[in-house]
Amino acid sequence: MNLELTEEQAAVRQLAKDFVDREVAPHATEWDRAEQVDRAIVKTMGELGFLGLTIPEEYGGSGGDHFAYALVTEELGRGDSAVRGIVSVSLGLVAKSIAAWGSEEQKQQWLPRLTSGDAIGCFGLTEPGTGSDAGNLTTKAVRDGADWVISGTKMFITNGTWADVVLLFARTGAEPGHKGVSAFLVPTDTPGLSRREIHGKLGLRGQATAELVLEDVRVPASAMIAPEGKGFSVAMSALAKGRMSVAAGCVGIAQAALDAAVGYAGERDQFGKTIAHHQLVQELLADIALDVDAARLLTWRVADLIDRGEPFVTEASKAKLFASEAAVRCANNALQVFGGYGYIDEYPVGKLLRDARVMTLYEGTSQIQKLLIGRALTGVSAF
Ligand code: FAD
Repeated sequence: MNLELTEEQAAVRQLAKDFVDREVAPHATEWDRAEQVDRAIVKTMGELGFLGLTIPEEYGGSGGDHFAYALVTEELGRGDSAVRGIVSVSLGLVAKSIAAWGSEEQKQQWLPRLTSGDAIGCFGLTEPGTGSDAGNLTTKAVRDGADWVISGTKMFITNGTWADVVLLFARTGAEPGHKGVSAFLVPTDTPGLSRREIHGKLGLRGQATAELVLEDVRVPASAMIAPEGKGFSVAMSALAKGRMSVAAGCVGIAQAALDAAVGYAGERDQFGKTIAHHQLVQELLADIALDVDAARLLTWRVADLIDRGEPFVTEASKAKLFASEAAVRCANNALQVFGGYGYIDEYPVGKLLRDARVMTLYEGTSQIQKLLIGRALTGVSAF
């Protein structure tokens, strides 16, 4: 693995860094308090090409490789995880799935709009009763002439109330478990689809997380993405790459925690000297720095494997598992460096901790990542 960035990768990282420092980080606290990021940021990210990374230019994408995607995601995560998540879902889970599995018509219909930020996508897998065990989802799609009629409820859907299209997973067959699951592209203005925003989240407050209720939602047969019964493969392949993007976002959180903690340690005086002089504070900083490097290297390895066409799925689980837990540790250690000031939201570290916490839960909890890694090591499924 070559650890030097190409000119193109370095340029896109710089672009993302400048954008985040200018247009994201300064507003993160305000958006967190208001429970809504400024929606205009989506269009700006489209113009900068961040929503089209890895998508072919013929569909409005900005091309680029997964390494560039990881670098941009890290920068966005450094600025505001709520903004990072919008991209990881709309591009990472939805547009990339359409590019990989969609028909020519579906690509033409959705990719130019998603990559420009004119439309937003959401990913509807989780249900109130099925989270980790997503293969046993119960939302049903029943064939009626040339249409499918879909009913069910989806829970915790990122971008849910903002999205124009949902990549929706529903049961079409009698086969038990994931074999009977198919995937559909459902415009969110389709009659019968209603959305309720979920408030009171611990973190990612600027993001629109929603419950989606589908009551006899009728879509044409052409709304199905990938062959019937292949929906779970669509979901799992999206999540495998998605885990790299979550891991990269976590590296961003960890880096932000390090920057904030080092800065504060050099300014805050206690016992007649800055707290940077105290060995136990240096220990906190050293622990954060180590986590940042380890998480970044694991994440870069996944990006490199994807770009080289090598198997990456288990490595993505390792990176996501480590980086998400590292982000929580880093934010928590940074809060310790800030003392009581870390506990109020005039300083950034409390938000970092709140935002980091969900990363160990979504796109497969830490326990699920361990089971995936364990299965790869032993050949035994312990789910
Ligand atoms: P459960 O699956 O009920 O798990 C509860 C606990 O049991 C966990 O600790 C889990 O690790 C453990 N557990 C479960 N099974 C096992 C097992 N076999 N062995 C050991 N331990 C186990 N979903 C989407 O589809 N789209 C989205 O955009 C999306 N965005 C989200 C945004 C937020 C802010 C949140 C909080 C969630 C989001 N989710 C989304 C849902 C998320 O992916 C699920 O919450 C997650 O998969 C866990 O499911 P659950 O909450 O039902 O927990």
